[in-house]
Amino acid sequence: MKKKLFLGIDAGSSRTKAVLTDENKKIAGYAVKKSGVNFSKAANLCLTQALSNAAASVSDIKSAVFTGYGRNNIFIEVPKAVKTEISCHAKGCYAYFPYEITVIDIGGQDNKLIKINKNSKIESFKMNRKCAAGTGAFLEEMALRLDIPVSELNNLAEKSENMVKLGSFCTVFSATEVLENIQKGVKIFDIAKGIFHSVIKRVFEMDSLTKTIVITGGVVAHNPFIIKMATGAAPDKKILTPALPQFTGAFGAALYASNSTA
Ligand code: ADP
Repeated sequence: MKKKLFLGIDAGSSRTKAVLTDENKKIAGYAVKKSGVNFSKAANLCLTQALSNAAASVSDIKSAVFTGYGRNNIFIEVPKAVKTEISCHAKGCYAYFPYEITVIDIGGQDNKLIKINKNSKIESFKMNRKCAAGTGAFLEEMALRLDIPVSELNNLAEKSENMVKLGSFCTVFSATEVLENIQKGVKIFDIAKGIFHSVIKRVFEMDSLTKTIVITGGVVAHNPFIIKMATGAAPDKKILTPALPQFTGAFGAALYASNSTA
């Protein structure tokens, strides 16, 4: 039987994500790939996988919305529109948490902080694209200094009993601090936790925060310990993360696509 699906693609500077939603705004399929140098190729690979999850074909897609850094470089033969990342992340997050929230998206090369009021209106937003501090790129650089894959940082940090604090804002100086700590014989677990502490500090100081904070993005998806640490760092706040935190922007884009044909 013919399906009625809506496609959202979030072409991030690091990873491209696709989400297919059905007529009830439920996720029917999703996929993520490295963006590499060709957003359209990454988007098409994601689409093929998401369609396979949903047991559907391109002709089942009624409309699509593309967002993210590479949103204007995607070629897929479906009725489509483009939207900013801020709008799509806000839409995706509010669908999970429909009340006043501050969204913090920790991406591969940038961070976004979006304040949404209880009626879903975006009150303000800030985006850091100038520096790697507090982003996935920061974690990758620190993992390189520790000579471990970035995917091991979470498990290491969870075992820390005596976190070291990295005082530098700049990624280059933080890398030097990491090397100094290695030379001093500090345990790798404690350095790993210090690295996550630095991420939280950078994103929390982007702006004032409302009572409820929703943290999203690939960094949180692969490092769930960040949520625990953020809760410890801001005990007066409620820290939440949605299901599939790396796909919030693509989900929001798919919701916009379904609204456009409603
Ligand atoms: P963007 O939208 O900016 O491209 P994402 O929100 O998709 O970024 O997050 C990308 C980040 O997620 C990467 O920089 C990396 O830190 C993290 N990440 C992605 N895949 C993995 C993985 N397999 N293991 C650990 N971290 C990962």
